[in-house]
Amino acid sequence: MGGVIGIEGRKNAARLAHVGLLTLQHRGQESCGIAVEEKGKDAFNYFAANGLVLGKFTEDVLEKLKGENAVGHARYPTSGSKSGILDAQPFLFKSAHGNIAIALSGNIINTAELRVKLAKEGAIFQHSSETELIVHLIAREKLPLEHALKIALSKIEGGYAAVMLFKDKLIGFRDRHGLRPLVLGKIGKSFILASESPAVEVLGGKYIRDVKPGELIVIEKGKLKSSFFAKPAKQQNCIFETVYISRPDTHIRGMSVAKARMAMGAKLAEQVKAQGITADIVMPVPDSGFFAALGFAKASGIPFEMGFVRNHYMGRSFLRSTQPMREIVAKLKLFPINDIIKGKDIMLVDDSIVRGTQSKKIINTLREYGARKIHMAVTSPEIISPCFYGVNTPSKKELIASTHTHDEIVKEIGVDSVTFITIKNAAEACGGNEGATGFCSACFTGKYPTKISKSTWEAR
Ligand code: AMP
Ligand code: SF4
Repeated sequence: MGGVIGIEGRKNAARLAHVGLLTLQHRGQESCGIAVEEKGKDAFNYFAANGLVLGKFTEDVLEKLKGENAVGHARYPTSGSKSGILDAQPFLFKSAHGNIAIALSGNIINTAELRVKLAKEGAIFQHSSETELIVHLIAREKLPLEHALKIALSKIEGGYAAVMLFKDKLIGFRDRHGLRPLVLGKIGKSFILASESPAVEVLGGKYIRDVKPGELIVIEKGKLKSSFFAKPAKQQNCIFETVYISRPDTHIRGMSVAKARMAMGAKLAEQVKAQGITADIVMPVPDSGFFAALGFAKASGIPFEMGFVRNHYMGRSFLRSTQPMREIVAKLKLFPINDIIKGKDIMLVDDSIVRGTQSKKIINTLREYGARKIHMAVTSPEIISPCFYGVNTPSKKELIASTHTHDEIVKEIGVDSVTFITIKNAAEACGGNEGATGFCSACFTGKYPTKISKSTWEAR
């Protein structure tokens, strides 16, 4: 996960990046940072901290971040240290090419091999996150930066989207499969790059298009140059972006995530009906099950009810890195409403079941509050394999759908039934302008769009 933003040619670029990062906060809450290029200055103005954007970027901090070009990052650690300030991005480097600031969301999967190789050649690493690798690879090339960057990117594999500042230029690039999102927008005469379209729109800007898989964009003085660092592979958007990660108001493949989630709910209603399962009310697990439950209710005619109040100050349960912490946060997160739940047959709609820990707790709570029957409808197919492209799904042995049969899942989480959306239905609902093909679904099928080396598997 993680979110990036880049602004070119705006007075107070840091303030715009700040607002953009507030919009992308759901993608990562571990640390945040902004680097700004100020004309005539030989070093970036910079601030990064562990914690939330709103709390850390005070007026005093923003006042010091002068300059016209900015890159920003909200971090969710999927690799590297969990909370070390040294891994807060953007990273800054002084190289033979010049000063570089870089922020990346996603994962480079051949990190282990590249680190060993580069270390043998004398590289010294300051960060445990792999973003630094790109700059090491650039620094080894004696060509102009753009060429050097293309060579560097041809040596890395994974799912990533990144923004960079270099000598009055804003640079953006996206992995050749298009796994992690990056959009291009415009505000006045200036371009913006961001992980999700609302980060552009919140600034009064306009979403233009998605950065293409394998595309390298260089923006200088309001002029955009596009080229490719790799032959784009078959497009493989991460379907989990629509299912869970992205904001409902984000557009993916020309379709709003909210609408795609509603369509997934409607498809699930058909699947549930075909099994002869009924309920008195449809209820979302807030917030990520909300639009799917709405779609389910509309399609099935079963009334929509909000049986939980969510405490918005707890954050997403997964965004706390350790298991004991996750459990405490999950308990504090949802408050049941007795009058809505008692005596009802409930159709509970959630985005995904990963470890099953959260579902189990929620089902227990609903039973405690007098629910008669509880059926679950889930807008992600069974997750059976880890993600290596920047989404923190755990190892196979922790994934409930990998270690349990369907009946065992029902028993383990304590529901009367559970229906997972089929991969075909999920892809059709999320397809947008480009249709149902061209999605990565490796965590549901175990078939990865890239080679996964033995050491990458073993690191899980
Ligand atoms: P659990 O089944 O207890 O592991 O938790 C599943 C819940 O965690 C889902 O309903 C989502 O709200 C959330 N979730 C699912 N996948 C992820 C992920 N990769 N990163 C963060 N949160 C996630
Ligand atoms: Fe997304 Fe799953 Fe593919 Fe990872 S493996 S990029 S979570 S669809």
